[in-house]
Formats: sequence, structure tokens, C-alpha cells
Amino acid sequence: MKRRVALVAVMLVACRPAAPPPQHPHHPPHPTHGKPTETTPETGTITPVTPPEAGAPPVITWKHIEHATDVPNKPPAPGTYRIHLIDVGTGLAILVQGSDFNLLYDGGTNDAGEKPLRVVSYLAAALGSSGDDLCVPKNSHPPKGRHSIDHVVLSHPHADHGSALDLVVHCYDVKNVWDSGRVNDAVFYRDFLEAVAKSATAHYHTAASVPGDHVMGVKGEEIKIERWDTFHESDVVELGGHAQFTILHAEGKKLSDPNQNSVVIAVGLGTARLLLVGDAESGARLDPSYPPGDVEAFLVEQHAAEIRADILQVGHHGSKTSSRHAFLEAVKPQLALVSSGPKLYGHVRLPDQEVIDELKKIGATILRTDEHDDACPVTHRIGGDSGPGGCDSYMITIEPAAQR
Ligand SMILES: [Zn+2]
Repeated sequence: MKRRVALVAVMLVACRPAAPPPQHPHHPPHPTHGKPTETTPETGTITPVTPPEAGAPPVITWKHIEHATDVPNKPPAPGTYRIHLIDVGTGLAILVQGSDFNLLYDGGTNDAGEKPLRVVSYLAAALGSSGDDLCVPKNSHPPKGRHSIDHVVLSHPHADHGSALDLVVHCYDVKNVWDSGRVNDAVFYRDFLEAVAKSATAHYHTAASVPGDHVMGVKGEEIKIERWDTFHESDVVELGGHAQFTILHAEGKKLSDPNQNSVVIAVGLGTARLLLVGDAESGARLDPSYPPGDVEAFLVEQHAAEIRADILQVGHHGSKTSSRHAFLEAVKPQLALVSSGPKLYGHVRLPDQEVIDELKKIGATILRTDEHDDACPVTHRIGGDSGPGGCDSYMITIEPAAQR
């Protein structure tokens, strides 16, 4: 498979640089630096609010993951689900597991020192080691066989969401790949599509229409993907026992900002709900008190009921481009997942403090991946790379009340 020769150049343009914050007489500027001022509890519990007809609500717990040995290597029991917020430094990767399915939403980073092996090594801990010697750290035993991943979703074609996905598709038998269809003429995106084209198992789904010859040109290569179809807003995809996801935003057009192509999915896990939004935005960097715009406005207007969720992946790494108050009020999460790292977006280190404050105001517990970025020893980083972060992954477990 192709190596990532121009990855650094791609990383520099990934995730649109932040525009300078506009001034507003009623909203004086706040500090824009979201460095944690308190530590997230290592473990905790929330009880989601569910309608009475749904029966006893599940119990949702979380646990801080520091080492690969903290990750259970067997799937959860039927009726129990796990969500892994994988600390990939400046990027996003979330693994969702049931007893009979698994789904990876994004897998990438903007940090030059981090290797795609961090994501693959985390997957090896949770799902089993799979693939060949490219799929394990140097001098490790190669995997003995292959494992499968039912669904891999690339929210939008930016490296901080997809730089590891070519390796994931190479190492695992991925059955379904979901991609906005918005083409980004970038090396990481070309490598990802080439891995999908080569995969013996992958079925490729995009929100764009499928060209008659099934060929797309990216970064000087013509890539032909045989098993390719189009998905639409409101499509429901069954995942397994009492789990499914619904596509709430599907946009394959070449928009000027790929963030606005983010594939948004609402994942139903028993009676618990998880909302994955990628880098979906409301527009310019503004205080959360401003009304939602762009994708967040669309979601509030068109999918008010479906975006209600117990757990929210906070949009665009906690940037003020996203997470307007009215949007967060509609989602009303009890648990907010913020994946961020030290690399600046434009001039800003995410998350923005205003977004953290807003999440607290609506009563959410915040799990963030950047708390120990500066003090995370290399030896602790899953995958053994020298990139930042890696010490602040979280595993969230959703269990029926009766099983506890
Ligand atoms: Zn991003």
C-alpha cells in the first residue's frame, strides 16, 4: 500500500482554519483557550431520561482508558453496548460495539508525530489483531488472522478524521464504508479510496451519485470502486440486536468547506442514543448564544426529535463554529465527548472555553481527550508513536438496568 509521503502538507490544510472571531456589542470576547481547568472523573455513571413506555432506563458508565490492557478484548454481552472515544490527539476516532456488530466513526489525526497505528492498535485491543505486519508496531508479532468491522464512516474528507482509515481498511475486513462523497484532492483521501477499491469485502456508500464507470479521480489516480451505491438522508441501517443508525445529514456536493459535508448519524443502542456529527457547523466562530446556522440549523429544523441524544460527540472538536445553545438544547446530552489535541486550527487551540461552559450550563458531563497531552509518556501511547495525547481515551458502557 502507498505510504503517506505528503501527509504533513495535507494535515496543514485539514479542518478549515478558524476565521477571526467577529465582535458583537452584546457578547464581549471570552478567552478562546479551552485548556482544562479541572480533571474529568476517571469513572462515572449517568442515568438517561427515557420515556416511561421504554421501561427502566439503561445505566451508562464511563471509564478512563490509559493502556491497551484496560480495553476488554471480548464483545459486550447482548443488550450491552460500548462506545470508545479513542484519544488520537488532534483528530477524531470513535468505536461503537454491540455483541454482534461494530462501527468505527472516523479515524485520523492532524499531529505529525502520530502514526495511523494508534487507531489500529486500539482496534486490535478491542476487536483482535488483524491483517499483516503493516498492522502492528515494528518488531511485534504479525497478526495471526483477520477480523471484520461492519461499518466504517468517514464523516468528511479531512485528514484529522481519515488519515488512519486506509490502514484500517487494509488491516480489517471492512464490510461497509460510508463516506459523504465529497472528493478532497488529497493524498490521505486517495490512499483511503484505493484501500476501499482493493478491499475484498468493502461495499462503498456515498451521498453523491455513482458515476456510470464507477471511477473517480483523486490526486492523479483513477480509482475504480465496483461495489458502490448512494445513501440518503433518513436512511436507517440496522446494526444488530436492538441497534441501528439513522442518517440525518447526507451531502455529497463539493461544498467549499468539507466540514459542511459531515455525515451526521443518530445511533440507537437499545433505548440509549448517541449523536455523531463530525465537524458539522453553524457557520462562523461565534458565541454559543447566537442562533444555529448551516448544518446545525438544518438538524434543529428538520430532525428535532432524532437529534435528541444521551451522548453527543461535540462538533468540530469543541470549536465555536459549532455547538450553538439552541442546538445543544435540542440534543440535551448528558455526556459530551470532546476530541481535541494540541495542534492549532488557524490560531486557536480547541476546544473553545465558551463551548465547554455552554456544555456545563446544559448539565452535560464532559469527557475530553486533551487533559494529559503534555504529560503523557510515549510508553503509554497505544501504538507506541511519538504524537501527542494517547493517555485520555474513554470507554462508555451502556447496560440494561436489570443486568447491574
Ligand atoms: Zn476536524
